[in-house]
Amino acid sequence: MGETALWQSILGELEKTIGKADFQTWLKPAKLTSVDNGVAVICVNSIFVRERLEKRYRNEVLHVVKSKAPDIKDVQFGILEGSKEETSLEDNPEAAATPTPAPRRASRSINPGATIIPTYTFDTFVVGNNSRLAYNVSLAIANNPGTMHNPLFIYGGVGLGKTHLMHAIANEMVRQDSESKVRYVSAETFTNDYIASLAGKKMDQFKKLYRTVDLLLVDDIQFMSSKEGSQEEFFNTFNTLHQTNRQIVIAADRPPTAILGLEERLSSRFSWGMVVDIQPPNLETRTAILQNKCHEKHVNVPIEVLDYIATRVHSNIRELEGVLSRTIIYCQTNNVPFSPEATRAALSGLITPATKPKHSPDAVLRVISEYYGIALDELIGAKRTKELVYPRQVAMYLMRKVFNMTYPVIAREMGGKDHTTIMYGERKIEKELASSPTIKHDITVLTDQLMGL
Ligand code: ADP
Ligand code: MG
Repeated sequence: MGETALWQSILGELEKTIGKADFQTWLKPAKLTSVDNGVAVICVNSIFVRERLEKRYRNEVLHVVKSKAPDIKDVQFGILEGSKEETSLEDNPEAAATPTPAPRRASRSINPGATIIPTYTFDTFVVGNNSRLAYNVSLAIANNPGTMHNPLFIYGGVGLGKTHLMHAIANEMVRQDSESKVRYVSAETFTNDYIASLAGKKMDQFKKLYRTVDLLLVDDIQFMSSKEGSQEEFFNTFNTLHQTNRQIVIAADRPPTAILGLEERLSSRFSWGMVVDIQPPNLETRTAILQNKCHEKHVNVPIEVLDYIATRVHSNIRELEGVLSRTIIYCQTNNVPFSPEATRAALSGLITPATKPKHSPDAVLRVISEYYGIALDELIGAKRTKELVYPRQVAMYLMRKVFNMTYPVIAREMGGKDHTTIMYGERKIEKELASSPTIKHDITVLTDQLMGL
């Protein structure tokens, strides 16, 4: 069967399994662009659709593809060459955050910029017994990359500082030697770059980008489980770097051997160097982290409020920061002083369930588009009418305050804007909160919706 006929028969089957409406929205526009090495590359013309396919339909699609073409072992979702969003991968706003000049832009669709968050440093990382070993080993590596502990594998639960430490290594290495070539990617980006290189026959550029760095950091490696094509490619990348004493750092939510669907040859290599974990922090460390955050945010929150929060949120530093942010928003919007009562009111007495945003960050966009009655693509689009700009800025503000997302990440979620646009939007809403009852109302209602109150 040719590729076109194969794709038609796959689509026919998917239409039956996932329902007509969802099929029309998400799968109908997709095209099978190539089958290479047992990997089928399926492309669409928007990043939004691609992410939805990846998150929601990957298993169904893979299942049907395998049933129709048993030689295919994996599917990858990409962006159609020439579509208007293809270039937004290249003009990745995250590249703005890189402390090193981005490598020459040779490719249209492989992500060339290394995303290093400048504020995730060793200085801003609060060390506790839970993270001391991980911190010390990371620091040793930054001082002496490629010589010992190669690779470093950091694992631990969500929101405990793995990503922060990885960026700290990169920042420190570049600080000591500005010529160092570092590349931080999530396993998802690695996979996407790999697909883009397959789809666009740009394997050489991909190799150049990944195999000529002094430090390669790959985050959330569990994402690669069962993606055989990407694992194979990562295996080769790993070997090339390791043989030439370049440093590799990997993070995951569990130890190498516990990642199901990860090839044994990879998990055994991950254990060659050093495997360290990060545990949840104790009360003192949690309080110290909160103090640090207040310092960074330039707000003065009394220690009794920080204690109040730290005694109630235990196992996730992002969540800890979330409660702090929510307290700050509550006190700013209602013009009341910080106090445990205000925190309690901000959380409506439901600390544990309420501390975690109920929705995922990408749902902020959906909630906001519904609230203001505008289409999603307009919300993240470029048209600058008043009806669109205000909800857009509200989205930026909430992503920052409720989800603590970084400017570059928000910039990407918002359809590939510049990170300075996000900073501007956040400040604008912050400034107007005090004087505009409408904005105050909107933010309160939307925050509650997102926190699931
Ligand atoms: P993970 O990658 O383990 O899910 P992150 O590194 O993204 O977690 O951390 C979540 C948030 O908590 C980030 O904003 C990070 O800066 C902060 N954070 C985590 N650990 C610490 C720490 N020990 N000191 C200060 N901030 C921390
Ligand atoms: Mg992380």
